[in-house]
Amino acid sequence: MSIVTNPDLPLPPPRFTDAEHLASSIIEKLTYQVGKNSIVAQPHDWLRAIILAIRDRIIDNWMESTTRTYEAGSKRVYYLSLEFLIGRLLRDSISNLELVDQINEAMGKLGVDLAEIAQLEPDAALGNGGLGRLAACFMESMATVDIPAYGYGIRYVNGLFRQEIADGWQVELPENWLAHGNPWEFHRRESSYEIYFGGKVDIIEQRGAEPKYVWKPAERMMAEAYDTPVVGWRANRVNTLRLWSAEPIDPILLDKFNAGDHIGALQESTKAETLTRVLYPADANPAGQELRLRQEYFFSSASLQDILRRHMQQFNDIKLLPEKVAIHLNDTHPAVSVIEMMRLLIDIYGVEFDEAWELTVATFGYTNHTLLPEALETWPVPLFERLFPRHMQLIYAVNAKILLHARKEAGASDEAIRQISLIDEGGERRVRMGNIAFLGSHSINGVSALHTELMKDTVFYNLHRLHPDRINNKTNGITPRRWLKECNPKLTALIRETIGDDFLDDAEKLQALNDVAEDSSFQERFEAVKRENKVRLSNLVGERLGTRIDPNAMFDIQIKRIHEYKRQLLNIIEAVALYDQIRSHPEMDWVPRVKFFAGKAAPSYHNAKLIIKLANDVARVINNDPSVRGLLKIIFVPNYNVSTAEVMIPAADLSEQISTAGMEASGTGNMKFAINGALTIGTLDGANVEMRDWVGAENIVIFGLTADEVDEARAKGHNPREIIEGSKELSQALSAISSGVFSHDDPGRYTELVGGLYDHDWFMVAADFDAYAAAQREVDAIWNDKPAWNVKAIRNTARMGWFSSDRAIREYARDIWRV
Ligand SMILES: *Cc1c(COP(=O)(O)O)cnc(C)c1O
Repeated sequence: MSIVTNPDLPLPPPRFTDAEHLASSIIEKLTYQVGKNSIVAQPHDWLRAIILAIRDRIIDNWMESTTRTYEAGSKRVYYLSLEFLIGRLLRDSISNLELVDQINEAMGKLGVDLAEIAQLEPDAALGNGGLGRLAACFMESMATVDIPAYGYGIRYVNGLFRQEIADGWQVELPENWLAHGNPWEFHRRESSYEIYFGGKVDIIEQRGAEPKYVWKPAERMMAEAYDTPVVGWRANRVNTLRLWSAEPIDPILLDKFNAGDHIGALQESTKAETLTRVLYPADANPAGQELRLRQEYFFSSASLQDILRRHMQQFNDIKLLPEKVAIHLNDTHPAVSVIEMMRLLIDIYGVEFDEAWELTVATFGYTNHTLLPEALETWPVPLFERLFPRHMQLIYAVNAKILLHARKEAGASDEAIRQISLIDEGGERRVRMGNIAFLGSHSINGVSALHTELMKDTVFYNLHRLHPDRINNKTNGITPRRWLKECNPKLTALIRETIGDDFLDDAEKLQALNDVAEDSSFQERFEAVKRENKVRLSNLVGERLGTRIDPNAMFDIQIKRIHEYKRQLLNIIEAVALYDQIRSHPEMDWVPRVKFFAGKAAPSYHNAKLIIKLANDVARVINNDPSVRGLLKIIFVPNYNVSTAEVMIPAADLSEQISTAGMEASGTGNMKFAINGALTIGTLDGANVEMRDWVGAENIVIFGLTADEVDEARAKGHNPREIIEGSKELSQALSAISSGVFSHDDPGRYTELVGGLYDHDWFMVAADFDAYAAAQREVDAIWNDKPAWNVKAIRNTARMGWFSSDRAIREYARDIWRV
């Protein structure tokens, strides 16, 4: 229905993009949207005005993209992710609209410092780490390579916590990214859906037909959409990131209120508000909370209702679903979508069960992100049944169908049947979300070649044998716009000057830099850019932490979530060993190093928080010991997030990617560093393996056990005590740590942490230590040969283009989504 009677409505006035118009547009926004003049406007008012002026320039493309998709009847991709770690959007938008020069000129006219204002934009930290950042890179790449796509997620009011370091310990504070409002988003009140929880299912017998199932929920709330436009490179296309917020159906229960129960009157509001209030600060292990399960269902249901509504409005044929819709599950968090799709198809759209399952499988794809068994979500059957009684029925029905097929047609053994089942029957019965995601999808992909192979042999061993055609590899990527062009403008300028602009549209064109890698004048300029980036980071560290560091030292950086498998501990222990060496051999020519750490620990993860404290304790002692003569400094940068990464990565000489082999699914931090000309020291884990293939074994420093060797050591039971006692450096470093050299105030603080290494060393820290220390000395040797270092650094930049998320997205589009 339309209320418009005039078919020839005038078009809105055009939004010109020259500096003159941009400047007047910003003033207009400041005046009429923000309601301030330039005399009283605060920095945040300017930020809002600038964002609104830029946003206007996105909207025409946005509408054009949407219309183009609609008119062509194109298939759309729906990327479901519980996390989108997008960071700031202003610079990204300006850059992708190609308005950098114009906006700088406009700001010059207005006398406002853009850099300073842009700093005020909060990081949208709606994610924990790599998985959420991948979703953000993918959104940008889908727009860039012109794929009609929607991202669906949750509009958390409080994103990932803000980390402060107090006396060396992590302190978690709420992150309040919406404090000044969010000028990027559009609240679409009309796009809202009812979401149910709990209650019971009524069965209505039908004469001569299948019975009807009617879910009578105990609780209901609304999901309301907030849309953010996502601009691709050169504004080829603008897609939509649609985030859901929970709203009460009855914001106030007036009878309760009037009866004097003022708090009780707001219970519906509180319930809804709580649902989308916080992002769970869990990384690689499930929060195990009912609220988390409710969040997963809430956003899955809202997204599916929205997808089906759009599909039916345009195509009016539910059977066309797989032809027009590709739904992608970013890990198991949205896996309940598979069952929600079954419910909607059967109960709402009247599709018969077997056909509903076929449509579902043909529509869904699933990316697995981890092999850690504790990260494969499962939920207790009683909890699932209480919240989703209808879904539980459907899970049993799907399970019966699958197990029958597995037994009858695939001849699965009893053990295989137990592993394939959607229900884990060993002990407390649990619903297996990984199995639902796998069986409900026609494609299951890993995120690096190694991870994909390991998936077939471990977590999905039996499922893979049942469906050997489903698992495929899609190695992760990063968007070169944010992670090269925007975060490293100086390097970008140098590259453009040297090889032209082609690499901006196709990162693999960076290969042309190979021709100048040996050219000493290019090497000097490459090194000079790196040094400028290091000065920028040094200044930031000086301002924020008051520590002075020398930009001529090697900047050795490990930034990522703090986790035992990522082995920050290995790095810290090596620093302690190096500290010993520097003091006992002052006559030697030590390479000056600054070791940087940054990262957040899940609040409930005891050892990860202790590792942060250890890094800070070690830093305090080493940084204040004059006998080190500044040859080694340790810096822990608080509150790691996208914006911090954007400053630190371009300044890195050495990138630490040292996870226990077989445990990092891919990593994307590794790619960001290498494309910015850092050398990697790393294990043969995740995408490091493919990085070695691309950059060449001579341009990356690989050490340590392989995934197979780790497996073998664990199976056989290795003897870490023997290893430690056989390594003088390691045993000295460990006894220093465990005896309280770095923790006089609490000498026993690290006894248990170090004890774990002697006892089981699950993450192979002791097992890999000597190889790691030797690799670090190899790094020192390369550093001492400056031209050799520079050639390797340049070749890293030149050869990392394949790791663009544009390449990854093209592979998804071709093999999985078929768009
Ligand atoms: C890239 C990125 C990550 C992922 O880093 P890994 O080293 O791959 O774990 C995490 N957090 C932020 C903010 C990032 O930008």
